[in-house]
Amino acid sequence: PLSENDIVEDHQITVCVRKRPLNKKEINRKEVDVISVPSKDQIVVHEPKNKVDLTKYLDNQHFRFDYAFNDHCSNELVYKYSAKPLVQTIFEGGMATCFAYGQTGSGKTHTMGGDFHGKTQDCKKGIYAMAAKDVFKLLRSPKYKSLNLAVSASFFEIYSGKVFDLLADKAKLRVLEDGKQQVQVVGLTETIVENVEDVFKIIQRGNTARTSGQTSANSNSSRSHAVFQIILHNPLANKVHGKFSLIDLAGNERGADTQSSNRQTRMEGAEINKSLLALKECIRALGRKGSHLPFRASKLTQVLRDSFIGDKSKTCMIAMISPGMSSCEHSLNTLRYADRVK
Ligand code: ADP
Ligand code: MG
Repeated sequence: PLSENDIVEDHQITVCVRKRPLNKKEINRKEVDVISVPSKDQIVVHEPKNKVDLTKYLDNQHFRFDYAFNDHCSNELVYKYSAKPLVQTIFEGGMATCFAYGQTGSGKTHTMGGDFHGKTQDCKKGIYAMAAKDVFKLLRSPKYKSLNLAVSASFFEIYSGKVFDLLADKAKLRVLEDGKQQVQVVGLTETIVENVEDVFKIIQRGNTARTSGQTSANSNSSRSHAVFQIILHNPLANKVHGKFSLIDLAGNERGADTQSSNRQTRMEGAEINKSLLALKECIRALGRKGSHLPFRASKLTQVLRDSFIGDKSKTCMIAMISPGMSSCEHSLNTLRYADRVK
């Protein structure tokens, strides 16, 4: 398995996979773990042939990615091999994105935001916070200090193709594209941050807004993409120097809600499906110079347009996997999607 001492590779597109442990509930109902991580870059799904005789498996399905994190890996380790290398990218004047992809309950929010359970929030353990910490570290390093960059942060949600500001009572925002294809979220709150504590407050605030007024059974957060951004400004040139977007995507199983009898659920499902397909195409386009960039196909890809162009832009996808047999189909869907990103 991957260890602290393995080399961090340099890719324009990094695709990795993370398996979470079985939780108490799953153990209590005797859920079988059908996922194994045999090496630092491989993951295997042991799909049972039928639900009666669990000793008989269909062909084991192997997948290979840049990194595979097993259920013992910490958020710190995942961070080190996924988002951490991209912090440098924004100081070098590039755009960076890190996506958490997977079904609801697979560990996207745990990985990105840290753990959020009502009052006992601890965002410091999430990738948002770890990235922010490293941004301030590099900001003050001898190499970049002389750039005199300013840092700000924003946090918004895309729900059913509409943008809501998580730092302004979920105000609904418009997205505009000018003649030069520059995309702007009009009125988005961008808070200047002086230190990492300021960023922690923003993460907590945004996350509280995201989860307020919803029940866990039918949570909106599983149907929305959350986008947290750290922006570097060059005050002298009055322009953006670099931007790091960290995205907790909607549950990919929601994209299959297109058969639901509820019209709204069906429409939301179609929207999620559309955005995840467009996202895949946009990331692929980043790795293939001159290929068509279908960024207008969804709100998500439209607001992230800048991130999919330019030689300096880098992206990372972390595909999250629930280990249980009952998640088998979803896990395979997630792995097949991740397999086609690069
Ligand atoms: P998602 O955001 O993908 O719907 P969550 O991040 O909310 O999923 O995770 C679902 C549950 O599993 C949460 O209670 C979370 O704390 C737990 N969990 C997820 N990943 C891990 C992990 N790697 N280690 C321990 N618990 C985890
Ligand atoms: Mg979540």
